Amino acid sequence: MSYRAEYIWIDGTEPTPLLRSKTKIIPSGEEPGIWGFDGSSTNQAPGSASDCVLRPVFVCPDPIRGGDDKLVMCEVLLTDFTPHPTNTRAACVAAAEKYADQEPLFGIEQEYTFLKDGRPLGWPQGGFPGPQGPYYCGVGADEIWGRDIVEAHTKACMDAGLHISGTNAEVMMGQWEFQIGPVAPPQVADELYVARWLLYRIAEDFDVAVTIDPKPMPGDWNGAGAHTNFSTNKMRESYDAIITACEALGKNATEHIENYGAGVERRLTGLHETAPWTEFSYGVSDRGASVRIPWQVEKEGKGYIEDRRPNANCDPYTVTRLIVETCCGALAS
Ligand code: ADP
Ligand code: MN
Ligand code: MN
Ligand code: MN
Repeated sequence: MSYRAEYIWIDGTEPTPLLRSKTKIIPSGEEPGIWGFDGSSTNQAPGSASDCVLRPVFVCPDPIRGGDDKLVMCEVLLTDFTPHPTNTRAACVAAAEKYADQEPLFGIEQEYTFLKDGRPLGWPQGGFPGPQGPYYCGVGADEIWGRDIVEAHTKACMDAGLHISGTNAEVMMGQWEFQIGPVAPPQVADELYVARWLLYRIAEDFDVAVTIDPKPMPGDWNGAGAHTNFSTNKMRESYDAIITACEALGKNATEHIENYGAGVERRLTGLHETAPWTEFSYGVSDRGASVRIPWQVEKEGKGYIEDRRPNANCDPYTVTRLIVETCCGALAS
């Protein structure tokens, strides 16, 4: 007997990489091992030296195929087993290991937009739906499009054992969110990539595409973010540590913004529940700030912060690495 392992990896497409996957049949009792692919077809190698290496980093049950089948999230290596230039996970692992004593945790809110016939699902051909207002957390066929896909995706994430913590319809018609966490890095990012892959794959069966473009519809329509909620053991105990983390993020704002996803300046305009990408701010309950301190955190004097700047199309390995380096670095002293 044997089982199917779907090897998933991040390609070299710029400015926003795509997910790729292929199937390996593995004899029962054997673990998914090292594999490879043609990097010249994924913007990861020249044709003359095309081999890239896949190393499994996170394995879970395949909720679509079921049975003994598995999903295998991989990192990409060169043939000498050093990280490929497109591999951002290796640096995330280094930061997570350096600051493991601070026990960092992340909860990432992944927003995304369903597309059908080149426009957001539910949008009329050649026109616009009614203005934003009723769609966020809405109910009813005049407000909600794609719930059947969302339900199938949520169940699949649960069946795969991912730490999915919720879902909701978003402010723009056809836009949704799911959250992964709280989980430590790099696993939170491994799981987020598997959840993204499941979303694309399940929406395929409904003949619907998914985009994580940060601003799929220009104009008076909300963009799509990946709000990143973060805490360390000190932040879960003291409000001083919460403020230290916010101040540290402010001092390093430029490096973070530059690595929070392509097109971040299209989304962080200062409108639509965002702070302008050129200015850093933090505040309690403030959805117009770069970083929000939830009201319960101020009340209880401990908890976590929400970095609202990352785009929906961000790389969660890079975002979590930067937050760990900046905040844990400041909290280490
Ligand atoms: P919002 O009110 O911004 O929409 P959500 O409920 O969508 O917030 O997401 C909040 C996220 O924060 C969840 O993924 C949750 O697991 C995560 N979270 C909760 N507590 C912590 C914590 N102490 N550290 C890190 N993440 C946390
Ligand atoms: Mn949310
Ligand atoms: Mn949201
Ligand atoms: Mn949020």
